Amino acid sequence: MSQMQNIQWFPGHMKKTERQITACLPLIDAVAEIVDARIPQSSRNPSLDKLLGGKPRLLLMNKCDIADKVATDKWISYYRANGVIAVPVDCKTGKGTDGFVKAVKLLLADKLRSYDEKGLVGKPLRVMVVGIPNVGKSSFINCMSRLSKAKVADKPGVTRGNQWFKIDARLELLDTPGVLWPKFDDMSVGEKLAFTGAVKDGVTDTELLAVRLLEYMSREYPERLEERYSGVLTADCDDAYELLCAIGKRRGMILRGGEVDTERASVMLLDEYRGGKLGKITLEMPEI
Ligand code: GDP
Repeated sequence: MSQMQNIQWFPGHMKKTERQITACLPLIDAVAEIVDARIPQSSRNPSLDKLLGGKPRLLLMNKCDIADKVATDKWISYYRANGVIAVPVDCKTGKGTDGFVKAVKLLLADKLRSYDEKGLVGKPLRVMVVGIPNVGKSSFINCMSRLSKAKVADKPGVTRGNQWFKIDARLELLDTPGVLWPKFDDMSVGEKLAFTGAVKDGVTDTELLAVRLLEYMSREYPERLEERYSGVLTADCDDAYELLCAIGKRRGMILRGGEVDTERASVMLLDEYRGGKLGKITLEMPEI
C-alpha cells in the first residue's frame, strides 16, 4: 500500500478538468456530483467545493444496487442534515433517475419560479455531471439520454462537441462529464478506492488489498462471505490471509505443489466485489 501514497494524479489532467469545469460554470445552473454509494465519502474530491464556487449541487449515489441499503439511507440522512440533497441511483437499470429530475427541480425551485415570473416560461435548467473515474458518469449520461426526447444543438460558448440533452421541458443535461481526480492522502481512502476499482489495479499489491477487504468483510458482513463461498466459515480462520487461502481452496485454485494460488484468489475476490457478486456491501459509514 505504501506505493499508493506516492501516486499523484497527473497534474495535466487536473488542469484540464479545472479549465473544463470553470468554462462550463456560467452555462449551468447546478452540478450533479456522482459518487459510488459503496464509498460515498472516499469517492468525492474535496477540491470540487472551491472549483464550484457556490454553484448549487446535488449528490447522486450511484451503484446503489450493490451498496447496503441501510448504509445508503444513513448517508442520505447524513447529507440532508448537512444541507445536501443526495439521491440514490442505479444506472445499470435506470432506477432512481426520476428522483434525480425531481431533486434538481426542488433544488432550483426558486430559479424556475423566477424564470416564470420574468416571462421566461420554458427556459430550461442546465446541469453538468462530475465525478471521479469509474463512478458511472457515462452510464448515468447514457441512461438519461435514453430517456431524452431530443438532443439540443451545440450552444455557443461550450467547447465544440458538447451537447445538451433535453430530459424534459425544463431540464437539460450536458453530455460531457467533468472528470474529477481521486484524492487519497489518507491510506484508508486509497484502499477503498482500490477495493471498488476507482484506482486501477497494478498500483497496489493485489494480495494485500484482498486481505484487507476480507478483514473488513469478515468483521462487517461475514454472512455475505459464507453465502458466496459456502463452507468457508470466517470463524474457523485465524486471520484474513487464512480466509483467503480457504476461499482459494474452495474454488480449486491450487498450485502444482499443492499450495493455494492466493494471487488468483485475490484477483477473483476483488473482481467479485467490484461486480457486486458478494452482495450489497458498503465500505464506509457516516460519522454521526
Ligand atoms: P465513468 O468512468 O464515471 O464514466 O464510469 P462508467 O459509466 O464507465 O462506469 C464504470 C463501471 O461501473 C462500468 O463497468 C459500469 O457498467 C459500472 N456501473 C455504472 N453504473 C452502475 C450502477 O449503477 N450499478 C452497477 N452495479 N454498476 C454500474
